[in-house]
Amino acid sequence: MSSTMTKRLPKRAEIPVQFQWKLAEIYPSNEAWEADFARLKDIIGGTGEQAARFLDSAANLLAFLQAKDNLGRLVDKLFVFARMHKDENNADPGYQAMTSRIQTLATEAGSALSFLVPALVEFPAEQLHAYLEQEPGLRVYERFFAEIERQKRHVLSAPEEKLLAESGEVADAAGAIFGMLDNADLKFPNITDENGEAVELTKGRYSRFLESKDRRVRQEAFTTLYDTYSKFRNTFGATLNASVKSDVFYAKVRRFDSALQASLDDDNIPASVYDRLIETVHEYLPELRRYLRLRQKMLNLPELHMYDLYTPLIPEYQRTVDYDQAKEMVLAGLRPMGDEYLSLVKMGLENGWIDVCENEGKTSGAYAWGAYDTHPYILLNFQGKIHDVFTIAHEMGHALHSYFSNRNQPYIYSGYKIFVAEVASTVNEALLMEHLVQQSTDPKEKQYLINQRLEQFRTTVFRQTMFAEFEKLIHQEVEAGGALTAEWFTERYLQLNQQYYQPETVVDPPVGLEWARIPHFYSAYYVYKYATGFSAATALSQLILKEGPPARERYVEFLKSGDSDFPLNLLRKAGVDMESPAPVRAALEVFKESITELSSLTGVALD
Ligand SMILES: [Zn+2]
Repeated sequence: MSSTMTKRLPKRAEIPVQFQWKLAEIYPSNEAWEADFARLKDIIGGTGEQAARFLDSAANLLAFLQAKDNLGRLVDKLFVFARMHKDENNADPGYQAMTSRIQTLATEAGSALSFLVPALVEFPAEQLHAYLEQEPGLRVYERFFAEIERQKRHVLSAPEEKLLAESGEVADAAGAIFGMLDNADLKFPNITDENGEAVELTKGRYSRFLESKDRRVRQEAFTTLYDTYSKFRNTFGATLNASVKSDVFYAKVRRFDSALQASLDDDNIPASVYDRLIETVHEYLPELRRYLRLRQKMLNLPELHMYDLYTPLIPEYQRTVDYDQAKEMVLAGLRPMGDEYLSLVKMGLENGWIDVCENEGKTSGAYAWGAYDTHPYILLNFQGKIHDVFTIAHEMGHALHSYFSNRNQPYIYSGYKIFVAEVASTVNEALLMEHLVQQSTDPKEKQYLINQRLEQFRTTVFRQTMFAEFEKLIHQEVEAGGALTAEWFTERYLQLNQQYYQPETVVDPPVGLEWARIPHFYSAYYVYKYATGFSAATALSQLILKEGPPARERYVEFLKSGDSDFPLNLLRKAGVDMESPAPVRAALEVFKESITELSSLTGVALD
């Protein structure tokens, strides 16, 4: 820790240009941005006039929808330019101001257009069909109209909608109170670290302590954390209860059968997909426990406890790579994707898509972003670890998904849904992993990589599915008229942990309180997408590796399809049917094989 604190970060101006993204390809200067900004203001000012007559004729409707798309494109382009410049150095007041100005204007644009969907809901379907016949230019909007029609059933009368919109802030209170308690007010006592020094436990440090090689430190961090949560368990119980109640309330008033159905409706996912994920993961719980057995043996522990799950199995492995090596590794790993894909990756790597280095004031982490009228951009904070090489492959997956979708879809269908978003990034990670494992000649490296893969499965597929199962339990309890208390949450959460981890792991009772610290439970029925996305991506990467060109051509078609169809249909065309258990099984077979592989590489036998 101290080494990173003493090393001075370079200033933005000291970063060589070849490591900087080229935002000048969006706007050559701030003056050019200002000119477009002024133009956008005029356009927004003019929408009112067009809006008044937009349903009067097919031609008017088309003109209005096109104007709306052009407005959206302009907002996006202005926003990414200001925001990405701000991310280069958050202390720069000029780009801070530009970012907040365009944010304000984007909100104005949004409210100027907010009448559109309600007006189309009210508009007679026969009339809309007649317009579609008259004006071929409208056909591109057919899916947009069909989605409004599909979701119509859940739209209420205008006064009811107004009331619901105004109740939104009240409904969000549960999550907001949780956030304040969990992030601001909750303080943890000191624990004794590896060096015998007293250190205040924080949520940020907790994950580092759980990875400690020193078991006493892990145990102390675990016990101390949950002791503190336990002191506030009734408050956490009340906030989560309120959040679940509000999910159930909104689902009911919008005429959904359940909160689950309401949450899945936007992606048009049937509840059976959710249930099937849970069932299929249950089939493979014996494999999870086989991995835990291997973990226990490799760590040489008499008993595996909940606080032993995160400490690395191959802690001695450390390899550093420079950026050029990292690029070569990514290109070699993505070779199964074929020449077209690879040449685009190369283009991105060499032509200013990527902002590579960390500098003073730069936004941390990594992302891929851009607008319909720009090429994709990637923000990195490259540190030269193997992990960073995977980050490049991951973000490149998002970048090319956007690149293909933007070039093959009209603006209105260019943005893809979250349900499919992490597929493109995870396929790349899986291909890179396969390549590195295959070509590695260092046995420690191989073990390290396979362990990384196993941990991804454990934390993304098993853990998120357990969360998904818990979310279903708590919503069903309220839907059945039951009451949720801290005791109820804790008992059920502990039971689930026992089902997943016992008898290979000692399920220490404090873990029953983990529900109290999971922010995702306040965005109901979201986390299952991590598990389905990861499974779909693993299954697709297997198809690409085994089948070759036909599989990758189907997959590239998927990348080109943006939001032109429902997520399940898009994935089905790519080669995985998420309504069947096959993709999750195919993915978990990789998990199963990896356990055997790690066992034989390390010589640690599994009975
Ligand atoms: Zn991602």
